[in-house]
Amino acid sequence: HSKWHRERMPLSMLEEIMMLTPQEEEARKHSDYYTSGPHLGGKNFSQAMWTKERWEEYGIPEVEIVSYDIYTNYPKSHRLGLLKAKGDDYKLLYEASLEEPALEEDPTTALKDRIPTFHGYSANGNVTAEFVYANYGTYNDFEDLLSHGVNVTGKVVLCKYGHIFRGLKVKRAQDLGAVGVLIYSDPGDDGKITELNGYKAYPDGPARNKESVQRGSVQFLSFGPGDPTTPGYASKPGVERQDPSPFIPSIPSLPISYMDALPLLTALNGHGKNTSEFGEYWRTGGLYHKNVQYFSGPAKGIVVNLHNEVEYVITPHWNVIGKIPGYIKDETVIIGNHRDAWIAGGAADPNSGSAALLEIAKSFGKMIELGWKPARTILLASWDGEEYGLLGSTEWVEDHQKLLHTTALAYLNVDVGARSPVFSVAANPLLQDLVFNATQKVVDPNRAQQGHFDDSVYDVWNKKVRTLGSGSDYTAFQDHLGIPSVDMGFGGEDANGPVYHYHSNYDSFHWMEKFGDPGFKYHVAIAKIWGLMALQLAETPIVSFNATAYASSLACLKDFVSASQKFDAEASRLAHELAKDIPWWNWWKKAALWLKARAINQKYKYLDRAFLHPEGLDDGRHWFKHVVYAPGKWTGYSGDVFPGLLEAGREGNWTNVCRWVRIIRHSVDVATKELSGPL
Ligand code: GLU
Ligand code: CA
Ligand code: ZN
Ligand code: ZN
Repeated sequence: HSKWHRERMPLSMLEEIMMLTPQEEEARKHSDYYTSGPHLGGKNFSQAMWTKERWEEYGIPEVEIVSYDIYTNYPKSHRLGLLKAKGDDYKLLYEASLEEPALEEDPTTALKDRIPTFHGYSANGNVTAEFVYANYGTYNDFEDLLSHGVNVTGKVVLCKYGHIFRGLKVKRAQDLGAVGVLIYSDPGDDGKITELNGYKAYPDGPARNKESVQRGSVQFLSFGPGDPTTPGYASKPGVERQDPSPFIPSIPSLPISYMDALPLLTALNGHGKNTSEFGEYWRTGGLYHKNVQYFSGPAKGIVVNLHNEVEYVITPHWNVIGKIPGYIKDETVIIGNHRDAWIAGGAADPNSGSAALLEIAKSFGKMIELGWKPARTILLASWDGEEYGLLGSTEWVEDHQKLLHTTALAYLNVDVGARSPVFSVAANPLLQDLVFNATQKVVDPNRAQQGHFDDSVYDVWNKKVRTLGSGSDYTAFQDHLGIPSVDMGFGGEDANGPVYHYHSNYDSFHWMEKFGDPGFKYHVAIAKIWGLMALQLAETPIVSFNATAYASSLACLKDFVSASQKFDAEASRLAHELAKDIPWWNWWKKAALWLKARAINQKYKYLDRAFLHPEGLDDGRHWFKHVVYAPGKWTGYSGDVFPGLLEAGREGNWTNVCRWVRIIRHSVDVATKELSGPL
């Protein structure tokens, strides 16, 4: 013990502990625990407590539950009927089941208290109207319909999941005067693994179960996440609350299976326009063999009755926050994953990440037991209410914005940690080298199983670092506070892999064991990658950022590129100097080097903050403060680079284009000056 108090543990030794501690069997147990019963946002206190207790047991020094009172909804009842007008009355043609059948071999699908199919933040309503098919319900899909003379005003919109965040489908439909929305999962979006190609459906095989339903939030993500009644400030007890209507729908919506969508789709055959003539993008449907011709409708006298009943309440949500205090008080590394799920299961989303986070906590605990105290402070977060709209993380970030501004170095998010062998990452370019380093150190489990122990995750990966958009808990860190973030996991699309039943009862422990990550090897791999990244960020004397990569990603700005190159070069020169053994009698040189290191690290820390614009984006998107990154206004998930400028351009608003050019210029100037200033 005492030896380590005198001597700091070298990073290589910490990394070894990180590589050796996480175990498949343990990850499997954690996954089994989290997925054994419902744990919807704001309804998972026992799991929050359990998480806290495990972290404490593993040796995380400070763990607390931090709660916020959040405005949210829970399902009460629902109904969807297909009807035909008959005189003054209607004849029922089809009653949708709106339920995912219990499967004998998959116990959590059969729980009595399993969660009904519904949309988070959906509006109450009971509407009967003709309906129109709108492809993916993207902005352009609605434009296509309009240009072909198909109007959705007064209609229910029926569209498929895919391409954009579901809440923006509802928003566009609502803006155009629709009275309700139905969103279904079309097997045409499952690649080649479909029943059409001879694959059996879950639970007998890898294809989509035709009765599977994707639950999910329909809040207007790209206008601001978090509690829709407290934009920009924390939902503490007794705070003033705003009208939530700019952020959530006013028309009802329901998610449905393709089995329930089939009678509706076929009822439109021959009515309205044949949408397969609208272009390739409209021909991706996978139900042609089931007699669906994907006509737009409406079909005169053929209506749906859509009834959505939800209960809105203000109720506590629980984040678990663990802290390992470091020597440097104002440089903090944060790692986080959400705990809440739409269903009893959630084996992939999010609990593959939650299981990995526990294995990291255990690894840190081992290091602490050996006398380790990190150079920089490390925070661990288990967020609640992510699924409804990044609730727990957003409220916590809003609550701690002052402190985070001066202390946070980076945020590392894992949502779906493992559900396929395909590594996928989106990151602020400042952190891309960190991703490369960590993935090079971890062997790809499938390759290892085939005897190729030299093939790292990095080797197997397509090496694409995507732009951060939104859809998980990094959003408040990156887009609201300018804290460089990463979002990663083995959650990439595998063309030959089993269909992932996203937000369905069939994202279960049983599915994970049988199809997603048999053996839980990728759970362990993501724990190692994530833990290695946190360690490197917390331990190296010079912060492992790459400003050049950031500047080059904004290619047009030459001054910034050259300032960044010089700065990074100086940083790595200094890192080399610091790695040398400088004798004690050269103390003045040592001191000078450390002071310079401190100055460099501070500049790295504040670099991304230079891109914050206090007024935020235009058109009701003021919560988004970052001038480089934001979710696309009409995509939600995928990110825009220079969102303010882009949106002004799209809208042809030249005054705003000029304004955004000035804002961006100014930010880049601030960043450039910061980097080229004295050290
Ligand atoms: N991961 C959630 C989803 O995609 C996030 C929901 C949200 O950001 O509103 O449904
Ligand atoms: Ca808030
Ligand atoms: Zn998730
Ligand atoms: Zn999710």
